[in-house]
Amino acid sequence: MDSLAIVVQEIIRPKTNCGVMPRDFLQDVSDEYDVIVVGSGLAGLTVANTLARSGHRVLLLEQHYKLGGMATWFKRPGGHIFDISLHGFPVGMVKSCRRYWSRAISDSIVQLKNIRFDNPNFSLTTRYNRDDFTELLTTQFGIAREQVTAFFEAARGMNFYDEQQLTVGEFFEQFFPGRQDVVRLLMEPITYANGSTLEDPAITYGIVFSNFMSKGVFTFEGGTDRLIGLMQKELEGNGVDIGIRCDVERIHVDRHRVTGVTVNGRFIKSRSVVSNANLKTTVLQLAGVSHFDKAFVEQTEEVRLNNSSTQVYMGLKKGEQIDESTGDLLFSSTAPVFQTDLLLSRDITSRTFSFYYPKTRPEGSERTFIVSSTNANYSDWADLDEREYEASKQDLIETTLDALEKYVPGIRDKIDHIEAATPQTFRHYTKHAFGASFGTKFEGLAISRGLSEQVEGLFHAGSVGIIMSGWLGAINYGVIVANEVDAQLLHSTSSVVS
Ligand SMILES: Cc1cc2nc3c(=O)[nH]c(=O)nc-3n(C[C@H](O)[C@H](O)[C@H](O)COP(=O)(O)OP(=O)(O)OC[C@H]3O[C@@H](n4cnc5c(N)ncnc54)[C@H](O)[C@@H]3O)c2cc1C
Repeated sequence: MDSLAIVVQEIIRPKTNCGVMPRDFLQDVSDEYDVIVVGSGLAGLTVANTLARSGHRVLLLEQHYKLGGMATWFKRPGGHIFDISLHGFPVGMVKSCRRYWSRAISDSIVQLKNIRFDNPNFSLTTRYNRDDFTELLTTQFGIAREQVTAFFEAARGMNFYDEQQLTVGEFFEQFFPGRQDVVRLLMEPITYANGSTLEDPAITYGIVFSNFMSKGVFTFEGGTDRLIGLMQKELEGNGVDIGIRCDVERIHVDRHRVTGVTVNGRFIKSRSVVSNANLKTTVLQLAGVSHFDKAFVEQTEEVRLNNSSTQVYMGLKKGEQIDESTGDLLFSSTAPVFQTDLLLSRDITSRTFSFYYPKTRPEGSERTFIVSSTNANYSDWADLDEREYEASKQDLIETTLDALEKYVPGIRDKIDHIEAATPQTFRHYTKHAFGASFGTKFEGLAISRGLSEQVEGLFHAGSVGIIMSGWLGAINYGVIVANEVDAQLLHSTSSVVS
């Protein structure tokens, strides 16, 4: 069993074993709200906060025992604290957090300075911005400056309304024909950031890549625990009612209109429901197929989920340090070429190492932590029996330590905590089908956007279509959807009045 899963059971078990009544996490919750948000990922949190600020009565329901969804962390005895998805995001987070959250949040966003690549094609360290990349591509990779400029302009010029036939691979081929090394430099970090591949529509690459290139890669000082703590304070200050351990079983629809949800066996009425749960689960299970057109259901069934991930978490012994020149983010690979199936293979050749030096939490732990992340297929971890699963996890840990030895010699002696998470772990904690780390592929966007046309008052905000994934994508999508819910609530109020 996952050690993370054991922690959950330990928290729940003592209460029931002692014969104490389980706590009613809905005891302070009203019977009716303007809007109910199902799920507290970054999109769900942002929807809730934006609508509460506009004066709506908001209930936020989360099935896990803490808020944040994939934006999460966990602690281990001895001062270890591990971030799951705080590896890096674009500078756009500063503006979004200032506008839709608070100054305390936006002012804590700081730049990561050492982004490192090490693979059979090249080894380099960069700030990961347009100036740095122009220099690298022209001097180290020998590409003409005009070509590099044309590439950046084309990537930046992409928008939602462009035709979506061109794939990322074809887009690269237009500018850098036959240059596998260049493709690797341009694509590898984006694949880690949102699971996109060379076969996805070019627009999914252009928007995300340009976002990063504007200023580089950023992180949140104080860690994910501090971010989510600040967000929770903000939500409470704006009057959002929050229920944790509140698993929404059903979104109720009557004659093509949302009427409320059933959560922990209780019905709560609402004119609007925003689901931050997985898109396919929202349509096919929570609301139920009978409320949608047949064609819409068929399209939903065809939406492909994005891949999942594995991670290895390593905590260094007290007093052990690593030189910061090792990098903040290190994209390492032993694969001879950049290829989607190699990136997802259980036979791991590519790993992204995130180094969390003590400066990550200036007022917290003085320890250094390392998290190794790899994109993964759920199917490789789905059907293992308990013994095979444990052996596979142990293998993941050992091979990761072997790979890290090159960058941190003597790593095995430096750490005093190590554990791994698999696609099963991600599924368990977020209920995303197949442990999808980044929601759905691009076709999910149309379904997510089309929900309220099928059922009045039903919305979805959360990782879809790659563009709306990642910390920035999820927050920005939350804002877009909150504005739509606001309009719907005003419209339905004025219809009632007139
Ligand atoms: C290993 C990994 C590394 C990542 N690294 C980065 C990174 O470096 N930078 C970056 O920008 N992004 C990263 N991401 C992606 C990023 O974390 C996600 O895209 C983003 O946090 C997703 O937010 P979301 O709003 O879509 O919701 P999610 O985080 O998916 O949350 C959905 C929430 O809904 C809840 N829920 C589901 N069903 C129900 C129900 N029935 N009732 C109540 N609650 C329910 C879940 O418990 C969960 O809390 C990473 C993701 C992973 C997995």
